Amino acid sequence: MTNNRDDNLDPSRWPVVPFVPYRCPNCDRHRVKTSNSRGRVRHHVCLACGMRYKSYELPAGSVAEWNGEIPSDE
Ligand SMILES: [Zn+2]
Repeated sequence: MTNNRDDNLDPSRWPVVPFVPYRCPNCDRHRVKTSNSRGRVRHHVCLACGMRYKSYELPAGSVAEWNGEIPSDE
C-alpha cells in the first residue's frame, strides 16, 4: 500500500464515489446496529423496530442492475 495522502483541502475538487444509504425494510428508519460483517454481507438489527436484515456491498456502478439477491457464493 503506497502512501497516497492528498493535501488538496478544496472539497469541490475531490473525486466522488457512490454511497447508497440503507434503511430498515420494515420501518424505513436508519437507526441501526451492525452486528456482523462477513465479506460483502453485513448483518444489522433495526434499533427502532427490532427487525434483523442484511446489507450487501456492491461494486460501484452496479447498484441499478442489482436484483436484490445475495449471490450463493457469498
Ligand atoms: Zn425497523
